[in-house]
Amino acid sequence: MEESPLTVNSRVSVVWLKRDLRLTDHAPLAAAVRSGFPVLLLYVFEPMLQDDEHYDERHWRFVWQSLEDMNGQLADFDATVTIVYGECGDIFSRLASCVDIDAIYSHEEVGLASTFIRDRQIQQWCKQKGIAWYEYQHGAVQRGATDRKVWDKAWDTYMRAPLETPRLEGTQFCAVPEQCLPHYTAPESWQIKRKGMQTGGATLAWKTLDSFYEGRGKDYAFCISKPAQSRNHCSRLSPYLAWGNISVREVYQALLFNWSRPGWRRALSAFSSRLHWHCHFIQKFESECEMEFRHVNAGYRDFPYRNDDKVAEHLKAWKEGRTGFPLVDACMRCLQATGYINFRMRAMLVSFLCHHLNIDWRLGVKHLAALFLDFEPGIHYPQFQMQAGVTGTNTIRIYNPTKQAQEHDPEGAFICRWLPELRGVPVPLLFEPWKLTPMEQQLYGITVAADGEYPLPVVELEQAAREARERLWGWRKRAEVKKENSRILARHVRPE
Ligand SMILES: Cc1cc2nc3c(=O)[nH]c(=O)nc-3n(C[C@H](O)[C@H](O)[C@H](O)COP(=O)(O)OP(=O)(O)OC[C@H]3O[C@@H](n4cnc5c(N)ncnc54)[C@H](O)[C@@H]3O)c2cc1C
Repeated sequence: MEESPLTVNSRVSVVWLKRDLRLTDHAPLAAAVRSGFPVLLLYVFEPMLQDDEHYDERHWRFVWQSLEDMNGQLADFDATVTIVYGECGDIFSRLASCVDIDAIYSHEEVGLASTFIRDRQIQQWCKQKGIAWYEYQHGAVQRGATDRKVWDKAWDTYMRAPLETPRLEGTQFCAVPEQCLPHYTAPESWQIKRKGMQTGGATLAWKTLDSFYEGRGKDYAFCISKPAQSRNHCSRLSPYLAWGNISVREVYQALLFNWSRPGWRRALSAFSSRLHWHCHFIQKFESECEMEFRHVNAGYRDFPYRNDDKVAEHLKAWKEGRTGFPLVDACMRCLQATGYINFRMRAMLVSFLCHHLNIDWRLGVKHLAALFLDFEPGIHYPQFQMQAGVTGTNTIRIYNPTKQAQEHDPEGAFICRWLPELRGVPVPLLFEPWKLTPMEQQLYGITVAADGEYPLPVVELEQAAREARERLWGWRKRAEVKKENSRILARHVRPE
């Protein structure tokens, strides 16, 4: 059926696309199609989010690529996504002035405070205008859940339920005329693919999933902790899940389909746990979104983070990948270039910031969000706090970056890939370049000094770790922390 440009007072169902940039397993789209009104697919690039420090151009490029991919698929139905730029309140008001909105359909967004406030304003506006806004569950995340008593069962039911893929054949789509809302064209820099950075879109999401089962996933469990090998053997679905190019239910059902593959049991059960964690963590954020701003455990309110005059310098060194610890620096520089590192390396970066440097996690959380192409507020904040050791309920892990390098990058391939200045240094010296004598520095063609090609360590590792252990374990014994633990367990953890 042909896409019809809207005329004044056409009655339409608006699908407000957010982090759900796909046409399959999409409950809001399926409902809009069922409504019988022409369907208007809308994506709004919001200045509010583009100016937010959690986000970087890499995210908007990925979104743009995802929308282009959707438009490619929609061409079969003579439809397009209407892409506009502006704050949503203004966009919906302008839209309502030229079309008759029957209802808005979207997924529930488990986002930052700014999107929560925006959604409340839109809700208010819908009420005033008498427009229904139907919101659909985001994966297995339950809005308003106050405990986890039946959560796991509900997760399972949701993941095994039939996909909500709409029948697009025969659907009448429409687009907003330019004179009503100017269509947005991406800046040139979004239109160029970045080497090393994953490209957005459902087509590539499915290709990535297929290639996992075609072979690279078999060694998933063995390679998950290794910074280099994880790039190939982990699923690499995270940006596609974060921006909704594929649903977590689609990924889980593909896992069930492949469950009996001979020789894959260990890989698939490790992968299955991660897919459970996906919604489990987002649920934590949904149930206690204040953790964007404060420690989830209020007992850490006065935790003695540093506030001396070297904090800014050390934070800068961490952000720039110049701490003097090769694995920490390689991870940060790899992130800057590719938007991805594996779980263990993310945990190590946070551990180094919060434990060895004793810097408040809130000073680093946005920096990593902006670097992670897969930034998902609902996973990022609870994970960041967990690794920062301020939940009171999780095991405290202080990762030794030298040991991590020896164990997970034993030949130094990952370090040398991202720190070219150290390429001439053999292992094991590569892991501790501060131990190079002046003679060795000459031999391997590197100067390790405060202003050298590679910097000296910003802290003394053993001493910093010892102090962190004392500080963290001492604080954990406090009555206020323990009191909060019971509340946190009741809210965020399934009862035994
Ligand atoms: C400090 C910190 C911040 C993080 N921030 C994010 C984030 O913003 N977005 C994000 O998607 N992941 C985040 N993670 C979790 C994890 O590191 C990534 O999901 C994973 O590395 C992505 O790679 P993959 O897709 O190959 O994962 P796989 O190992 O193949 O796992 C498959 C999927 O399961 C989910 N998953 C995997 N590990 C976890 C986990 N530990 N917790 C919750 N879900 C998980 C992801 O959706 C992932 O794509 C963070 C971890 C830490 C320690």
